[in-house]
Amino acid sequence: MKRAEIIAVGTELLLGQITNTNASFLSRELAGLGVYVYYHTVVGDNPTRLREAIEIAEKRSDLLLFSGGLGPTEDDLTKQILAEHLGKTLVMDEFHLKKITDYFESRAVQMTENNKRQALYIDGAEVLKNDFGFACGMTLANDTHTYFLLPGPPSEMEPMFLKYAKPLIATSMDGDSVHLESLIMHFYGIGESKLAADLAELIEKQTNPTIATYASDNEVEVRITASSATKEEAQQLLKKTEQEILAIDGDYLYGYGDETLAKIVTDKLLAENITISAAESLTAGLFQAELGATTGISQIFKGGVVTYQTETKAEILHVSPETIETHGVVSSACAKEMAENVRQLYQTEMGISFTGAAGPGSLEGHSPGTVWIGLSVNGYETETYLFSFGRDRNHNRRRAVKQGFQLIRAFLAAHPDFSSDRKNDK
Ligand code: ATP
Repeated sequence: MKRAEIIAVGTELLLGQITNTNASFLSRELAGLGVYVYYHTVVGDNPTRLREAIEIAEKRSDLLLFSGGLGPTEDDLTKQILAEHLGKTLVMDEFHLKKITDYFESRAVQMTENNKRQALYIDGAEVLKNDFGFACGMTLANDTHTYFLLPGPPSEMEPMFLKYAKPLIATSMDGDSVHLESLIMHFYGIGESKLAADLAELIEKQTNPTIATYASDNEVEVRITASSATKEEAQQLLKKTEQEILAIDGDYLYGYGDETLAKIVTDKLLAENITISAAESLTAGLFQAELGATTGISQIFKGGVVTYQTETKAEILHVSPETIETHGVVSSACAKEMAENVRQLYQTEMGISFTGAAGPGSLEGHSPGTVWIGLSVNGYETETYLFSFGRDRNHNRRRAVKQGFQLIRAFLAAHPDFSSDRKNDK
């Protein structure tokens, strides 16, 4: 089985100025080919440390993929160091040299000598064409290792990998190839630590598929990855583990893969033709913006209001002055009136409201992150819900929106008859 290592070269990666997206891209691609990536290395533009990185990688990996350091300047030294390490020299690739000189000639610009460096490759390597830049890529192999050198800019690296490197790796895999299949499950309403604790036994005993939990943007993602000789077998392994996870924490699952909570709920509203409007205070339109992301939403989304100031809540939404005076705007009573009144205003079946203290300061004595969400549904008692998100301002606002979608999802799940009752009424 081939073990691959990705070595991203560039001091700007170490300084945190750019993110190592090349490693993510290559890892995904290699996983698709059934190549195991065991290590990601990042090393600066420093000859000694690059040499060390190569030596370490050769001890633990068979396939070494480099990205970056193929450019014209002195600090672009990936191929120079690797050539030295392998006891080889650099030679000129005529195709890329011509491409570079033609470019400067066509613009009548004086070419500096260092530009030619981009057309150098390691003697004995196969040159990989750069269709979107000047620096050539290359691949070479000896008895123990295979090396791929790819440019740093993703706009050059990705097409070069897909068109020239990937087919070579795929062919070299022969019977070695395994099928890696992944499944991503999304959970909402359960923290990562709780989910990981619930699944601890399963995660511990499991080697294939592997199970990993990730917390992302107020929700938890579980990624299951199975490997097997055939795609079908890998999928069966995934299915079995998925069922085991669902048996434990299935109540919190809302979707798979690329699905988002907002999209799942919006699609459901659309499918059931349930009209909706929204009254937003602290979220200032974020909920409606999420609705607006779905094509065809005008079928059910009639509109909404951003009633940010207290006076606007009274003037536009007609929240009663007594409510505001007695309970304040961060209150169940205010959320209730906002949801009911917006539903009335837009004549929709559902009205949702958001009011609270976004932070960082407190509001009416309520700590930052205190949020009331109201849900008014035609034919049902209006419900209000209190949350205490308690983090920074924008986290609290995003969290409130997500929670709003979750409340709608929960309502629809708890009232399966809602849609059919409406149809019967019509
Ligand atoms: P160039 O010919 O542009 O100099 P190069 O092969 O020498 O290409 P670098 O100089 O290392 O590549 O990087 C050029 C640019 O490519 C970086 O400034 C950055 O924008 C991008 N880049 C480099 N490495 C990565 C990486 N690992 N992930 C994402 N982007 C990267």
